[in-house]
Amino acid sequence: MAARAVVFDWGGTITPWHDIDLVAQWYAYAEVYDPEHAGALARRLAAAEEHRWQVQRESHGATTAGALEQLFLDEDIDTSSALHLRALAGYLDFWAPHTCAHPQVPPLLAALRERGWAIGVLSNTMWPRAHHEEVFERDDLTGLIDAALFTSEMPVAKPHAQAFEAILARLGTTAGDSVFVGDRLWDDIAGAQRAGMRTIWIPHSRVPEEQVPDASARPDAVAHEPWDILEILESWA
Ligand SMILES: [Mg+2]
Repeated sequence: MAARAVVFDWGGTITPWHDIDLVAQWYAYAEVYDPEHAGALARRLAAAEEHRWQVQRESHGATTAGALEQLFLDEDIDTSSALHLRALAGYLDFWAPHTCAHPQVPPLLAALRERGWAIGVLSNTMWPRAHHEEVFERDDLTGLIDAALFTSEMPVAKPHAQAFEAILARLGTTAGDSVFVGDRLWDDIAGAQRAGMRTIWIPHSRVPEEQVPDASARPDAVAHEPWDILEILESWA
């Protein structure tokens, strides 16, 4: 028998939304890697990152933004150098306060698992798995997640149906036995619905308009805070 599963998006869903200045995050990298030209390098990295997200969006997830490593290589950065590793540490320090899980999430995941739900994570991300796993560890999530997939190591991304099918396969479950929780109406809610999943929307992220090609999706339920998810699932039982 297939397990039933709840699959979560990560940014803006497990972690509350923070507005991030794309150039500022790259300045944290560039001021270490090339202090003399930090502003210019930060702007180039920000533009390259934005372009990669745009390509992913325009393909509806049939191609991905790729991996952070490739973004650096395309800027002729020597990713094996000690300088790069120090700069990358600066970038991750910049992000650290913005990636903390909502405090209700660990107890929520524990409660869902007690009730027989498997827990998955499916994140559109350029970060390597190792960065995400460090954050899961810091936030006491490691033992609560049965499977996590990151599009930095996948051929497709949300909203493509194959991205959802991949995490369901990893969890050993089916779309009909699963629920997707996400903060983006297009990538998460519309995508999961097309894949045949029920959906719960977290409506508090200030997703830039240009990142939402179509906002017409209607979630099956709305969770204003993580604990609401438990009640919603029980109402569907
Ligand atoms: Mg999100």
